[in-house]
Amino acid sequence: MIKYLIVIFVGILSVSLYAQETTSSWDKYPKIDAGQNWYETYIIAENTYAISAPNHWQGTISYLLLGSDKALLVDTGMGIGNIKKTVDAITTLPVIVINSHSHYDHVSNNHHFETIYGRDLAFTEKNSSGHPKATWDNAIQPSAIKKNLPDSFSFENYQSKPFEINKYVEDGEIIDLGGREVEIIFTPGHTPDSMLFFDRELGLLMTGDTFFPSTLWAHRADADFKNYLDSAQRMAAMQGQVKYILPGHGRTMVSPTFLTKLRDAFLSMRDPNTPYTKGEDRRRYEFDGFAALVKDPPE
Ligand SMILES: [Zn+2]
Repeated sequence: MIKYLIVIFVGILSVSLYAQETTSSWDKYPKIDAGQNWYETYIIAENTYAISAPNHWQGTISYLLLGSDKALLVDTGMGIGNIKKTVDAITTLPVIVINSHSHYDHVSNNHHFETIYGRDLAFTEKNSSGHPKATWDNAIQPSAIKKNLPDSFSFENYQSKPFEINKYVEDGEIIDLGGREVEIIFTPGHTPDSMLFFDRELGLLMTGDTFFPSTLWAHRADADFKNYLDSAQRMAAMQGQVKYILPGHGRTMVSPTFLTKLRDAFLSMRDPNTPYTKGEDRRRYEFDGFAALVKDPPE
């Protein structure tokens, strides 16, 4: 019963925390009609599209980057809509899919694509065999949706389908899209396979769940505080090269000043004097513009 109540509590908390991030910050970008109501698609920079799903509390955001020869799709969302239809409405270039990490809300349209890059890790391998609906039940139910649910979607039949990684990537590897390069930066912590994607020329850093301006999850069994701290330190050192952070949930094009704030947050959580709210098996820390859930104690 207690476990059940905690799930409900976390669900409600998540709904309210994500919901507040999904409003006005999008208005300044041109919105395009890419053929589906479930997604909202914006041009946020040159040849750079944000495909968001704001009508689910997850507010997951995928990014489509176009080069002259290829396109890169960073994350494919929850699989409630078919993101491939939206991508096909934007470009006819061959598409490479890569994921910021392999949680269900970032990989669940992967199976629609032929070319998928990912990490050579047992964690990723396990997640690529599919996520059962029961694992994420609080996200796959009518109360999780605001509006515009696609007619083709069924809560009963939902599953995050298996997919196959065709190419393993390395830390520091460059993906060449033709006249546009995207660098891969491994940042384990939220999960073992978390990574960032950096368009150095435009100064755009895609951060997945490693940073978004809401509640970061570093408390689950697949998270690692020490790795997250190391990753946050690496990210803080990049701040001067970054113009905008493109997170995996809620808002986009956020200030790079969060990179040093993230590092400072992780350093402060090591200090026993830093205040937090205690949950049954976790701590919640509040910071300027975001929060973090960590195990109790953090390490
Ligand atoms: Zn995640």
